[in-house]
Amino acid sequence: MPTRLEDEIKKQLDESRPIDIDKQGGIRKGDNTESPVNPETGEPVTRLKDNRWFSWYHDNHKRLLSEKNAMLIRFPDFSLTETLQGLTWTGYLSPNCTYYRIALIYPDNYPYSPPKVWVIEPKINAPKHQLPDGHLCLLHPSDSTWQTNTTAATIVAMASTWIWCYEYHQKYCGCSNVPCVHWPGTEA
Ligand SMILES: [Zn+2]
Repeated sequence: MPTRLEDEIKKQLDESRPIDIDKQGGIRKGDNTESPVNPETGEPVTRLKDNRWFSWYHDNHKRLLSEKNAMLIRFPDFSLTETLQGLTWTGYLSPNCTYYRIALIYPDNYPYSPPKVWVIEPKINAPKHQLPDGHLCLLHPSDSTWQTNTTAATIVAMASTWIWCYEYHQKYCGCSNVPCVHWPGTEA
């Protein structure tokens, strides 16, 4: 059974620094001379190795730039980080009252596979529509929602809808049946 990845992703985000994209779509790293410090122990933490392996964003600058622009328009508070799982957007979504910190991770063969989204804070354990490694089931393999020109911003918006449905269903039902009348929208 695959391990849930939320804690691992959160740890890596805490040990990384946001990166920026320049006007040409290249990655601009921040000042790397200062080591991040563990807030509990005061000890410097080991920085993740740069460029863990070759991934789509190392040469698809045009696409990286359009991803950044789409996120800036719809989710300007999100930040971009490189984790061991891949290029990662992180930020907060709050479809009702509760804030959820999410991580959207691009696959290395992006855009031929969609990004995956984890809720990393608070920890959620949905009775359905959540995969064994913890990522949210946003796209059904049989539907054609994912197109190679769909950006991360669309997937983050879908995650926000997912959270809204999840909260509603938890409030009124909490079952693991698919479909259920208390899960708003369609369930595949
Ligand atoms: Zn239900």
